[in-house]
Amino acid sequence: MLRRNLVELTVRPGPPARPCCIAAEIDGTEYGVGAPWTFISGEIKPGEQLMTGPASAKVGAMAERDGDGWIRCDQGHRHWGRFGAAGLLAYVPAEDGPADDGAAAVLLQRRGWWVHHPGTWGPPGGAMDSHESAVAAALREAAEECGLPPDEVSVGGVLRDDHGGWAYQTVIAAAGSRLPVRSDSAETSDVGWFSAAEIGRLALHPGFAGQWPLLRTALVPLTVIVDVANVMGSRADGWWRDRAGAAVRLHGELAALAERGVPALPASVPAPALERWFPAFVLVLEGAARAALGDLPAQPAASAGLPLAGMQPAGPPETGPPGPGRIRAVAAAGSGDDLIADLAARLPGSRLVVTADRELRDRCMAAGASVAGPSWLLGLL
Ligand SMILES: [Zn+2]
Repeated sequence: MLRRNLVELTVRPGPPARPCCIAAEIDGTEYGVGAPWTFISGEIKPGEQLMTGPASAKVGAMAERDGDGWIRCDQGHRHWGRFGAAGLLAYVPAEDGPADDGAAAVLLQRRGWWVHHPGTWGPPGGAMDSHESAVAAALREAAEECGLPPDEVSVGGVLRDDHGGWAYQTVIAAAGSRLPVRSDSAETSDVGWFSAAEIGRLALHPGFAGQWPLLRTALVPLTVIVDVANVMGSRADGWWRDRAGAAVRLHGELAALAERGVPALPASVPAPALERWFPAFVLVLEGAARAALGDLPAQPAASAGLPLAGMQPAGPPETGPPGPGRIRAVAAAGSGDDLIADLAARLPGSRLVVTADRELRDRCMAAGASVAGPSWLLGLL
């Protein structure tokens, strides 16, 4: 007997689900791992397995993977991912200088014929588990489905498409090169790096197609260059008694900000609105504050995402993955302003300089950087 109103999934013969991914509980019996079928959207059809199930059926959860399952959003769509879904939009930045029009290459996968919107291209992604952040889920899915190593990309931002009751979050991440990838799961039939022109000729997943015009404008690394002396001087916390100690405190606050991300950029930055940005931070120290370098925690290696060739990192090399937040302090041998203006001119991608110094602001803007006052940054701490 067909009970189509009770079961929001179809059971259809096909490639097995990836391990620990999908499970269903019907009348006390669990199906999923190792079963010769997988679930896709739709109605149960006569002649398929599980047609004589009980009056209740639900998509269940494996212990460590509780996000798999269908949910209906407030707009009436049915979506995969009980706690929302996330995908990783990995890209290789264009090499020909800052302010370039988007990325040189973007990683996309083609979905197998047995999933929702079969045969279309989009970022690797899937259901978020209840304990996962969007960043963690997107990196995990890209590793599972495409073999993309999570430690070799730098997360730069998250775009949230909120349907009410369900959301899809696209995690944008820069890669240093077209990393080797492969189709690693039954859900992926093909995978590769594509230029924007090539993407224009692909059959895209409709959800991704709707967001691609905005997403492509966000595929530029962003570095926030902090004029530490100027920012410290704009709040009366006793910095003048111990400049190095105040610089260490500011570094700690900015490290926390780098980890949690920035909800909005100043209007001066030519970038789209995202749910959250994860810029790299460079703190420029000068004068007595340079002594802070000896008291700072380990800094990320230059290869961890910060394009800081030619500068001496302070402290011992980092031992673990950098995570979304990346922060580095550099000491100016001479004028701090000269170093800031130089960084504003030659760091790749978008640069945002935080200072209230009018002359320095003019120099940085002439170098193609955006500027913001200390109050913008301090308001985020
Ligand atoms: Zn929806």
